[in-house]
Amino acid sequence: MKVLVINCGSSSLKFQLIDVETEEVIVKGICDRIAIEGSRFVFSALNKETIDSKIVLKNHADAMKIILETLTDEKNGVIKSLDEITAVGHRVVHGGERFASSVIINDDVIKAIEECSDLAPLHNKANLTGIQACKKMMPETPMVAVFDTAFHQTMPEEAYLYGIPYDYYEKYKVRKYGFHGTSHAYVAQRAAVLMDKDQKELKLIVCHLGNGASVTAVKYGKSIDTSMGLTPLEGLIMGTRSGDIDPSVLGYIGNKENKGLEELMKMLNHDSGLLGLSGGESSDFRDIVSAYEKNDERAVRALKAFAYRTAKYIGSYTAAMNGVDGICFTAGIGENSGLVRDMICNYLTYLGLKLDPDKNEKRGKEQIITTQDSNVKVMVIPTNEELMIARETYKELKNGK
Ligand code: ADP
Repeated sequence: MKVLVINCGSSSLKFQLIDVETEEVIVKGICDRIAIEGSRFVFSALNKETIDSKIVLKNHADAMKIILETLTDEKNGVIKSLDEITAVGHRVVHGGERFASSVIINDDVIKAIEECSDLAPLHNKANLTGIQACKKMMPETPMVAVFDTAFHQTMPEEAYLYGIPYDYYEKYKVRKYGFHGTSHAYVAQRAAVLMDKDQKELKLIVCHLGNGASVTAVKYGKSIDTSMGLTPLEGLIMGTRSGDIDPSVLGYIGNKENKGLEELMKMLNHDSGLLGLSGGESSDFRDIVSAYEKNDERAVRALKAFAYRTAKYIGSYTAAMNGVDGICFTAGIGENSGLVRDMICNYLTYLGLKLDPDKNEKRGKEQIITTQDSNVKVMVIPTNEELMIARETYKELKNGK
């Protein structure tokens, strides 16, 4: 049984065709720079030469068309007809309070996703474009929506409410939602396997450290708190996002520099984080690390602040769960940077955590990186959101029958 996984952004469409029985990735690729000059199509099929071509992609429907045509193409394709695709799994960023799990897409679901768009305008609109394009080209194929927010719907009220008038929650659903849920759920599952335990007996903290970054407390298999909020701006210091700040900073800078809210929000989302702290050096962690290694003082302060904030969240989630059994690192930075894992774990030796320096140096491999006698296990677990979406799609399909 083959599931097509679609991750549709505002100007890109990433896809994978996955055999859900063997979990083998048959094809993966991307349509990039959609509706922008210089569009590109990359299609990598198992045991075949990768196609990497410049083509005109006017919109997401064009992108879907080239993907489906290539999948069934006699020379480059991997399937004879689109009927071989049993279902399509779509990543959807915001499911609001309506979606606490994945769901088979019908007209009501599409309407509800549209309604959630208020909370994540750019993302949800892009996700819907992908859904509509698929619906048009494969009207009979079932589709499933897998939400970034769904995993966090188990958070208790005390974790998701902000300390502002309750009216705003009642009227507009202003609350913490959290993101990267598919990744946190996948990593927590893998952590239990690595630790040879049932998730139901584990207190885990998952650090998804990529360009966007978030930490989640996963108690007995359920998310009970997470660092991102109403939007992905809250929490950790990220590539270009500030993470937590005192909201008064906005009024203060706004007055001093005569800037409006829109401009200030743009500053917090696009000019802050590692980029802002390093004085414009880079938002890319690799650049920050190489400047840090040359003792560049701007990179040193950015990196130290990044590690400090992450360690503080781990400490607070240890308190939230009254203990922790395992800490997991995932995504571009978490999987690859032994340096930052070491800097973060240095704050946590009070837990009886002992990093194994040799294991910590190894990159991108799923493994436990603490010593045998460490009280808390630290793990590197490469995330796999596409596989998780394929699994969820399969599960929903089986449940729906
Ligand atoms: P996103 O999916 O949010 O765009 P990723 O999970 O791909 O982000 O992570 C991107 C980040 O990972 C970038 O900041 C990049 O510099 C960092 N990264 C990738 N490889 C390495 C590495 N070997 N060492 C340190 N950082 C890395």
